[in-house]
Amino acid sequence: MNVLMVTSECAPFVKTGGLADVVGALPGALAPLGLDVRVMLPAYPGLFPLLPQGEEVARFDDLPGGPGRLVQVQAQGLVLLLLDAPQLYDRAGKPYTGPDGRDWADNHLRFGALAQAAARICFDGLPGWKPEVLHAHDWQAGLAPVYLKQAGRAVPKSVLTIHNIAFQGRFGPQVLGELGLRDDWFHADGLEYYGDLSFLKAGLVYADAVTTVSPTYAREILTPEFGMGLEGVLQARAADLSGILNGIDTGAWNPSADEALARTFDAKTLARKAENRAEIAARLGLERGEGPLFCVISRLTGQKGLDTLAEAIPHLVAEGAQLALLGSGEPALEEAYTRAAQQFPGRVGVQIGYDEAFSHLLQGGSDAILIPSRFEPCGLTQLYGLRYGTLPVVARTGGLADTVIDANAAALAVGVATGFVLDSVSRQGIEAGISRTCAAYADRKLWQGMQRAAMRQPVGWETSARAYADLYATLQA
Ligand code: ADP
Repeated sequence: MNVLMVTSECAPFVKTGGLADVVGALPGALAPLGLDVRVMLPAYPGLFPLLPQGEEVARFDDLPGGPGRLVQVQAQGLVLLLLDAPQLYDRAGKPYTGPDGRDWADNHLRFGALAQAAARICFDGLPGWKPEVLHAHDWQAGLAPVYLKQAGRAVPKSVLTIHNIAFQGRFGPQVLGELGLRDDWFHADGLEYYGDLSFLKAGLVYADAVTTVSPTYAREILTPEFGMGLEGVLQARAADLSGILNGIDTGAWNPSADEALARTFDAKTLARKAENRAEIAARLGLERGEGPLFCVISRLTGQKGLDTLAEAIPHLVAEGAQLALLGSGEPALEEAYTRAAQQFPGRVGVQIGYDEAFSHLLQGGSDAILIPSRFEPCGLTQLYGLRYGTLPVVARTGGLADTVIDANAAALAVGVATGFVLDSVSRQGIEAGISRTCAAYADRKLWQGMQRAAMRQPVGWETSARAYADLYATLQA
């Protein structure tokens, strides 16, 4: 079966979050099941070096925002379809924001063009290849199912995956014409969202199936607390909505062969993690410590509960633990953690910025990873933590709740506990979780048992790739 994935990010080429990891790894997991997946994404400047190695497979004269061409190229085990439209994508800055940190003013064109190019490929095919399923990811690809339906064709079927419902791609109604969308579909049961066009909502209405990245988040987004205004639309699609847990790329994230580590290790050589901890300590100026080293690897936003975690730092230090944080995002949070590092020198170390290699080292050398998210569609860092014997301390929400087994008495008794689930994302809740983690850490036998259980937990793509393949097959039937 031929599957066209449409996305604005794909690891390792362009990444701002978990979406990139998923799109970068899922095609490789689907290949052994007999699926031929190609990944369409914008040719941002970071991808320009690939263009000369590729082959032009399509030209478009009149996409939203001007002409474009599609270049197919193989890289890192993926078949990429790069939409080369320099007037939309050849700019310094990030995928969604300019150097001033503000959204690009023409994001509706940048991602409308991507969606429309995808739909045209579905109709016309490429030399020797025609999509049988279109799989769109997040709001940036949300219009692709709409363009398919608008053309009145029943094939191919489309799937839209929600990686984070907080981002909805909302634009004023004046963009409708520029995007070639039908006026008579601009109503509450169609493209319209409270007077605006919402790319995500439109996709949710017109896709044949909707998925999100964990079973718990699939249930949560049906409620006002988590649905971010789209709960009604989702309830109407509930029969076509499912949650398929993300996996991780177990090749890129393998503690026994990870080149970013000071020392590789496996479940039988856990003591070697200490060498990675020493390397982290040297980089962040941490003292030698008897207590556990907690880490945070995250976008610094309210979603992640890190404002509340900052309040619990004095408690963490008083418990004899240390904290290493790698992240970037909201200035107020960057400042709060920079201040905490100054306030507790040797105990709290902070690196502001994005650093892929250091994120691996932190997973390799920390004892626990803190993820007190207010909502978390799936979450990847707890899965990396499990694989590296770095026990997750997580909020009871979304994919965190689906992947971490709390160290309660019953789970410990049968040896399946893999982490610590917080009762609430409040200062008290986080402090209690930190205390429980420190107490467990002091019992070396119990801790190592949990680490081994964590490292045994399957976190690869096998199960979920099969679930996607089954979904595609159902749609085709
Ligand atoms: P989200 O997609 O909401 O940001 P996820 O946990 O699903 O959260 O995915 C985040 C991804 O980004 C993980 O691969 C994580 O390791 C990575 N990441 C986040 N912040 C940083 C950072 N500052 N440096 C390196 N990697 C980071």
